[in-house]
Amino acid sequence: MNRRNALWCLCGIGLAGLTRGVLAKTTLSSIPMKQHEIAMRAAIAMAAQNQSYPFGAVITNANSGVIVARGVNKTFENPLLHGEISTINNYVAQYGNKNWADLILYTTGEPCPMCMSALIWTGIGGVVYGSSIEAIKKSGIDAFIFTAKQINQGSNFSQTQLLGGVLESECDSLFMNRKRS
Ligand SMILES: [Zn+2]
Repeated sequence: MNRRNALWCLCGIGLAGLTRGVLAKTTLSSIPMKQHEIAMRAAIAMAAQNQSYPFGAVITNANSGVIVARGVNKTFENPLLHGEISTINNYVAQYGNKNWADLILYTTGEPCPMCMSALIWTGIGGVVYGSSIEAIKKSGIDAFIFTAKQINQGSNFSQTQLLGGVLESECDSLFMNRKRS
């Protein structure tokens, strides 16, 4: 390595270190789409457990992609148990109330205001969803007019990273083909 290349190399290390310091956590856009899709497929698999309200979710470690908790809508049991809340509860039951910044929640449907607020309260590192609130409404499910982004922006104390539309068509068909009774 010549002197010039060595200098470039040092600059690169400096910039990488600075970027890590500023962001302090993994960004959703830096994670390969393949990793997002693997996690979303696991959320879709969970959704199969509730054919009327196919909201499935998983929580992963942002760095490794390993799934650490799973959940599904259980509102037949408790009206607060949306898929995201079930999954948050399952995570806390197993690991305790910690390491939130290193985690990402994946859900088949865009979080409602209750779940999005809960996710912000946890301090979770990121939230990824498949179907939009509009698509969920089209399937006949009641939904608030507020988007997850609006709830996120409504917080002046903490915000999380949001990414929508991952495996969107597969998630949309879950909702459109849901069991209606
Ligand atoms: Zn919800």
